[in-house]
Amino acid sequence: MGRRVRVLAAVFSVVCFGGLLGRLAWLQLADPEGYAARAADQQLRDTVIPAARGEITSADGTLLAASETCWTIRAAPRELDDSLVEETARAMSEILELDYAETLEKFSQRSSNDCLLRRRVNKEMADAVRRWCSEHGAEGIQIRQDTRRVYPQGDFMGVLLGFTDVDNAGLWGLELEYDEELTGENGRVLTAKNAWGYDMPTQYNTLVAPAQGNSLTLTIDANIQRYLESALAAAVQEHKVAARGVGIVMDVQTGAILAMTTKPDYDPNNPRTIVDEELRAQVDALTGEERTAALQTAQQAQWRNKAISDLYEPGSVFKLITCSAALDTGVCTRDSTFVCAGSINVAGTRFRCANGHIHGLETLAEGLAASCNPCFIQVGARLGQQNFCNYFAAFGLTEATGIDLPGEIKRSEYYTADRMGPVQNFGP
Ligand SMILES: [Zn+2]
Repeated sequence: MGRRVRVLAAVFSVVCFGGLLGRLAWLQLADPEGYAARAADQQLRDTVIPAARGEITSADGTLLAASETCWTIRAAPRELDDSLVEETARAMSEILELDYAETLEKFSQRSSNDCLLRRRVNKEMADAVRRWCSEHGAEGIQIRQDTRRVYPQGDFMGVLLGFTDVDNAGLWGLELEYDEELTGENGRVLTAKNAWGYDMPTQYNTLVAPAQGNSLTLTIDANIQRYLESALAAAVQEHKVAARGVGIVMDVQTGAILAMTTKPDYDPNNPRTIVDEELRAQVDALTGEERTAALQTAQQAQWRNKAISDLYEPGSVFKLITCSAALDTGVCTRDSTFVCAGSINVAGTRFRCANGHIHGLETLAEGLAASCNPCFIQVGARLGQQNFCNYFAAFGLTEATGIDLPGEIKRSEYYTADRMGPVQNFGP
């Protein structure tokens, strides 16, 4: 009985595996090197799993930039059955909102192993692709996990946050400045494939999990930022500002930036859309290279953080610096008195007090509160050129601040003591 079972088992083995062994022997003898090379090419497919970028939050914990899971749809046309090429091209172009002729052209490359259909689609589209393929038995359409940058607060802090490019790399603003820290480590799946290009059982998959990038917490307080943005937008509109409105809120004890904006600015979710409707219409009216150039100029202007990229001639706000220098050197105290007669003559040039005011006798404190021009011309004269310039430099106004944002202008314009006469101003 035992012997008969063993004989039967041997016969059974030969019948079942004999054919396979014969085929294997034939492949090995016929073209061993060619088949080995093709096998290595086909059996291992390396799929990158993109890492999510780190989050950006404000000091009070408001989420400003996040990474959202999405899906990129690719295709390996050679895995798709010949009889399904047209039907699949039709379905994919409808679901993914692609041009049918172009999609058919991609699928018609019958030996192609990989082509991009559409980058970063939402869950509904990816599910529709998956459903259609399984219902119609279409092989070779790949739905790969991907990530995309989103700015949950919408049109908020655009010039500070910046944005990323098509590969999720930082292109502008904080996204650029902290690109290295925010970028994660991509993961990989090394998948074994059988001769038909399908995935082999899961034990052949090697997974290297992606690591999310570091997160970034700003000194910006989202509440203060909101007040600044809405107040500045209203002021720009009210005063019909043509060039720019700029606002910075700083913690004077530490120098930390609590809020910063320029108006008009843009929504970091759609940075390439020109926000100014009039300008957008002008650009759209052009064609070809002219349009491309005009669009680029308009975009660059829209993206520029004017709070750090543009020179600013301070005017009356500079009275604070002059006042501080005068008090610190001791040439004045808060109770020193000055006379404002509505105007003052300096080396043959007459300077008026603002808005026709005549402040009369006033202390330094009163002169500062009223922003009185004749008062501060006298304070400046008491201070002298050298003191004025020393404090100008000591306040850091001759150099860049070194703020951790890209695009700060490195140049400053000012007079040195030896070039400064009794009356000096900028401009033509
Ligand atoms: Zn005055």
